[in-house]
Amino acid sequence: MKKKLIAGNWKMNGSLAVNEVLLKAMLAGVGRPGCQVAVCVPAVYLAQCQALLAGSVIELGAQDVSSHESGAYTGEISPAMLKEFGLRYVIVGHSERRQYHGETDELVAAKAQRALSTGITPIVCVGETLAEREAGHTEDVVKRQLAAVIHTNGHCISEVVVAYEPVWAIGTGLSATAEQAQQVHAVLRAQLKAASPNADRIKLLYGGSMNAANAQSLLSQADIDGGLIGGASLKASDFLTIIAAAS
Ligand code: PEP
Repeated sequence: MKKKLIAGNWKMNGSLAVNEVLLKAMLAGVGRPGCQVAVCVPAVYLAQCQALLAGSVIELGAQDVSSHESGAYTGEISPAMLKEFGLRYVIVGHSERRQYHGETDELVAAKAQRALSTGITPIVCVGETLAEREAGHTEDVVKRQLAAVIHTNGHCISEVVVAYEPVWAIGTGLSATAEQAQQVHAVLRAQLKAASPNADRIKLLYGGSMNAANAQSLLSQADIDGGLIGGASLKASDFLTIIAAAS
C-alpha cells in the first residue's frame, strides 16, 4: 500500500531558536511512523534544519524554487542550490505565491519541471478561491492548473506530488469537509490517470486547515494520500497527531 505523506509548510515563520525547539520536539515524538514526513522550511533555515534532521525520518523541503537554472535572477534560488542541502521536496504554486507574486500556471509548471530535472520532488499546489467555488468553477480551475503541469512535464508527471488546497480553507480554520476534498481529489486522480499509466502512485495531498481534530476523517478518504499542513505544523503535538492519523 502507498504510504501517506504528511508535509509541514512553515511559511514565513520561525527563528533559529524556535526551529530548534520545534524540530527537537518532533524528533522526540515521531518514532517510526507508518507514513512519510517532511517539513518545508524557509530557505535561510535549510542548513540548520538539515543538521537537526540528519539521519532522522523527517525529510526536508523548501517552499519555492526558481524556474531558471542559474544566472542573473536576483533573489531567486535554483533547485541545484536547494539540492545541496539534501532537499527531497519543494512546494510550487502555493496559492500565496500565485496570489501575492503573480505566479501563473505556466510558471508553476516550469518550476515543477526544473525541480524534477534536479531530482527534487515538486509538491504542486492547486485550488480554487471562494468566489470560484461559489460560481461552480472548482473543477475547471483545478483541472486548468493541473493541465499546465501535465502538459509541461509529460511522462514525468508520475514523479510529482499534487496538493489540493482550496484557497478559502488555507489559514482560515475552515477546512473542506472530507467529502468535498475527496470529490476534488477524484477529479484530479481521473485527470492524472488520463495522462499517465502510473497515476495511481502519484500522491494527492489535501491542504487547508487540516489539524489534529479533522486529520483522521480527511486522511481516510480513498484519494487523499496525505496532507500539506500549515498552521498545525508549527506545533509539535498537533503535527505528531496528524502523523499518527496518517500512519
Ligand atoms: C498551507 O499553507 O499550505 C496550508 C495548508 O495552511 P493551513 O494548514 O494553515 O491552512
